[in-house]
Amino acid sequence: TLANSLAALDAAHQLHPFTDARALEEKGPIIIEKGDGVRVWDSTGKEYLEGMSGLWSVALGFGEERLVKAAHEQLQKLPYYHTFSAKSHEPSIRLAEKIAEMAPEGLNHVFFTNSGSEANDTVVKLVWYMNNALGRPQKKKFLARKNAYHGITMASGSLTGIEADHTDFDLPILPVIHLTTPHFYRFGAEGETEAQFTARLLKEIEDTIAREGADTIAAFIGEPVMGAGGVLVPPAGYWPGVAEICRKNDILLIADEVINGFGRLGTTFGCQRMGFTPDIMSVSKQLTSSYMPLAAVVFSDAVYNAVADNSHRLGGFAHGFTASGHPVATAVGLENLKIIEERGLVAHAAELEPMFQKGLRDMLEFPIVGEARGVGLIGAIDLVADKATKRKFSKPGQVGQIANGFAHEEGLILRAIGDTLALCPPMISTEAEVAEMLRRMRVAVERTVKAVAE
Ligand code: PLP
Repeated sequence: TLANSLAALDAAHQLHPFTDARALEEKGPIIIEKGDGVRVWDSTGKEYLEGMSGLWSVALGFGEERLVKAAHEQLQKLPYYHTFSAKSHEPSIRLAEKIAEMAPEGLNHVFFTNSGSEANDTVVKLVWYMNNALGRPQKKKFLARKNAYHGITMASGSLTGIEADHTDFDLPILPVIHLTTPHFYRFGAEGETEAQFTARLLKEIEDTIAREGADTIAAFIGEPVMGAGGVLVPPAGYWPGVAEICRKNDILLIADEVINGFGRLGTTFGCQRMGFTPDIMSVSKQLTSSYMPLAAVVFSDAVYNAVADNSHRLGGFAHGFTASGHPVATAVGLENLKIIEERGLVAHAAELEPMFQKGLRDMLEFPIVGEARGVGLIGAIDLVADKATKRKFSKPGQVGQIANGFAHEEGLILRAIGDTLALCPPMISTEAEVAEMLRRMRVAVERTVKAVAE
């Protein structure tokens, strides 16, 4: 069959991200062939509800004709131009304006990249360039968190705090300090209250700054709600506390909004839901619903001015990509953001939040579900061997994979992150579609309970 021959070609020629290559050679990939709305179909004709929005990104689902039209029209008019050396074009200008309009007050400036990783690499260079320009070149260190995901290139991968992404790649290569993950369920100490946990984490930041010297620390970077680390929701008071410490110590605050941005948490940006205003944001994913690769760094007047004042030297801010602000990608991005606004999808996510989060919490009735959590239209459950002690399964990730396999059989794409099962429905999902995703997830968990007991 075509599927068999494609699978053989795939194994012969393509190395996949985050995949056991030998296992893929043996079993073959799942070849996704087409999509529409919140559904995708594989090459055997099997239908799935896409409960992960691809990689947390396909806000408008898989069949938005207006995005197709925006791309087509731009391809016909001007398929490519760059934004180097004082050249520009209308789609990049219009999208930069739109992002600045949607962004929190004072974040008025945009630099385009192709991926979230490149956006966070750009953040590092922007901040270092700024501090060099301000005559404080020693102010270079980054504060980040364990379990954070900021990308996978050498710089953004250094900011990432996931061990598997460092091992074998000699990362981190940047001066970055990874602090405690703000996830009370897993990292709260014996007998500690959530408020005490928050205070301990804030003190850790202050102690780290005191030890290293504020004059050596450039920035604190974090996802308002961590995604790839397992949908980790910080305790109340954490982010406002972090923001205050940064302000007091003249440390830039960077919100990685690559997953949270454009409505995922029921607010336009995640930082708004978590109660802080950053100096810089990185955005991607829901910026174009992933119909085109595009990301951006969004930053304050103060950052812009420090950079702009110095950009007369050495031929300008010497950073950028062939496709920075690519006209087709930015045209699609603009149309995508217009649709998110016109259809009120940010408010829609907030409206669905109670039933979605309740559906996850209801799974706490299963003997292997230790925690259910989330905000807006993103959430997860943790599978554990023993609920009372929060003990993990002896082989980390194995039970998660079993549950993931059952979900696939039930026609639901979710994501197993170790023994955490994440769900991130497209922003266009109806209540009935979200309910059906939750129902299929419940069946998968129920089947896992039985399989684990055997
Ligand atoms: N930052 C966050 C929060 C992400 O979730 C991701 C990707 O999942 C990235 C950055 C990196 O984006 P990309 O995969 O486009 O390089």
